[in-house]
Amino acid sequence: MALRNVLTTEVDDASLRQKSREITVIDDKILTLAEDMKETLYAQNGVGLAAPQVGVLKRLILVDIGEGLITLANPVIVYQKGSQKEMEGCLSVPGVWGIVERPEHVIVRGMTLEGKMTEIDAKGLLAIAFCHEIDHLNGTLYTDKVIEYVNPEHVSRGGK
Ligand code: ZN
Repeated sequence: MALRNVLTTEVDDASLRQKSREITVIDDKILTLAEDMKETLYAQNGVGLAAPQVGVLKRLILVDIGEGLITLANPVIVYQKGSQKEMEGCLSVPGVWGIVERPEHVIVRGMTLEGKMTEIDAKGLLAIAFCHEIDHLNGTLYTDKVIEYVNPEHVSRGGK
């Protein structure tokens, strides 16, 4: 395993704005990428990480809101309901925090590292984390959606 460098908008904005490609096969390269992203996510105390954030334009995301790690390839939101306005940060936009409106409840469909299709029912913070990471796969950053920026002194939660 190895830590990967997390791209930031200050240096790599163009890379973070690209659309990532579908993953067709879970091969050793993807498994290594997932392991490295896991290590990187925890080293940075994040709650989520998308492959384009480490410079790999593939549709792979990791999410852990403190209830265990979820790794999904080709994640798609197949259902969404309600709305919530919560504070978000991003490992690729360090030192900035803001309020974003997201669905309160989503169902995400994707492929596990075992190559099986799965659906995850996510509410609250977990729903936010999935929406945030899936946006990364389409070159969208949460700062595109911020309603209001927040003073970082009032922030304690991990970035995505
Ligand atoms: Zn992010």
